[in-house]
Amino acid sequence: MLDPKNDPFYREGDAKTNVFGSEAMLQPAPVERIPQGPTTPEIAYQMVKDETIAQTQPRLNLATFVTTYMDEYATRLMNEAVSINYIDETEYPRIAVMCQKCINIMANLWNTPETAKWKAGALALGSSEACMLGGLAALKRWKARRKAAGKPYDKPNIVISTAYQVVWEKFATFWDVEMRVVPLSAEHPTLDIDKAISLCDENTICVVPILGVTWTGMNDDVEALDAALDKFNAETGNEVCIHIDAASGGFILPFLEPDKKWDFRLKWVLSISTSGHKFGLVYPGLGWVVWKDKKYLPDDMSFTVNYLGAEVTQVGLNYSRPAAQILGQYYQFIRLGFEGYKNVQYNSMQVARYLHSQIGARKPFVPYAKELVNPIFVWRMDDDYQKTAKWTLYDLQDKLAQKGWMVPAYSMPANIEKMVVMRVLCKQGFSRDMADQLLADIDFAVAELDALEYPTTSRIAMEKNTPLVSKSFNHTGK
Ligand SMILES: *Cc1c(COP(=O)(O)O)cnc(C)c1O
Repeated sequence: MLDPKNDPFYREGDAKTNVFGSEAMLQPAPVERIPQGPTTPEIAYQMVKDETIAQTQPRLNLATFVTTYMDEYATRLMNEAVSINYIDETEYPRIAVMCQKCINIMANLWNTPETAKWKAGALALGSSEACMLGGLAALKRWKARRKAAGKPYDKPNIVISTAYQVVWEKFATFWDVEMRVVPLSAEHPTLDIDKAISLCDENTICVVPILGVTWTGMNDDVEALDAALDKFNAETGNEVCIHIDAASGGFILPFLEPDKKWDFRLKWVLSISTSGHKFGLVYPGLGWVVWKDKKYLPDDMSFTVNYLGAEVTQVGLNYSRPAAQILGQYYQFIRLGFEGYKNVQYNSMQVARYLHSQIGARKPFVPYAKELVNPIFVWRMDDDYQKTAKWTLYDLQDKLAQKGWMVPAYSMPANIEKMVVMRVLCKQGFSRDMADQLLADIDFAVAELDALEYPTTSRIAMEKNTPLVSKSFNHTGK
């Protein structure tokens, strides 16, 4: 065994040692094995902190959908709750109630018809878990219906556009559900409803429209889908329903477009999921899923455990998880209120619209969507410009990264995968002034790239038709 005295991390109570004057700071950080002895908290803190120091500043990360700014009180509240495990409902019963209050608020923002005091819903770690729970409930309802009718129940499928987020591929793989995908095209930049209906049959557990498509920032038309499904179900005797993946839209539409019918006001919408840590304005990880009525949440998805002497009922794929996000969400509801959320989302939309029009007006770029429905947009390079340009959007991504900005470039999903786009997400913490700073940095980068004498490697690869993948960033997590 290594003598602790020979271990450079070992400090014998010498709190006086300056952190950067210590022996430990001359050593590489542990990679394979736990150090033999302890070191001072100051040194340990500095080493861990410094390993992440070169990363982008979260506030300059325009790639992420996830909240990168909360006010001081919210941050304090969440930090104070880091030691609370959500699952310990008996010890922290108030957290469980607070969580249910958040579910009620979500359900009402989405116009639930449910009259019970506590609405049917669940807390999740993000939209991924929330989608998984929504999908699972749909699968179980379909199975129960098929069983009761004495029909086979071994070939379930879901229908979704190719612009799905990776969680749906996981859902399909984990639970052996066939994924029927509707390609995006120039004519149909969002879910093609006719095509979606043509893929539905008696084995379709649900259709999944997306509000705030991660690839494009656009919204699928849920109202049109609902009407088409109503007709399809009436004609075929099926009961194909809708789960909405409203990861972003779930927190945008209620505030900015309260009259738009996309939610539980529609007949076949039986469940909706969202990310509390995206436009819910809470630090990660937090998601919500709500069912239209308790009867759509299969009983066997609620697990009642006798835990430390009390009966606790939980819906979720996780067990232990931090409670801090629940406090953060409830704080935001109280702090901002409906009008406050509306103001924040409105500002994000306005900054996005400004940036969208500014970028669209620049010669090298063409915006993908004409109008914005979410504070998220993508743009591509102009075809004529592309012919003579010595660079691609991947090079622009790298240039902007040198200034600290994370603005991802990526190729679109199947069918339009040749199209390379760049995406910006405007959220709380990104002001008009910061947008101007970004524009200045884009102009500077474009001028430098335009002055290149020789094409970049990514431009040469594009010429050769080699599939291009951004090495530093992959927005879908695939
Ligand atoms: C972000 C996102 C997800 C995954 O959500 P997490 O909150 O990251 O778990 C699923 N679907 C869509 C449309 C998303 O934007």
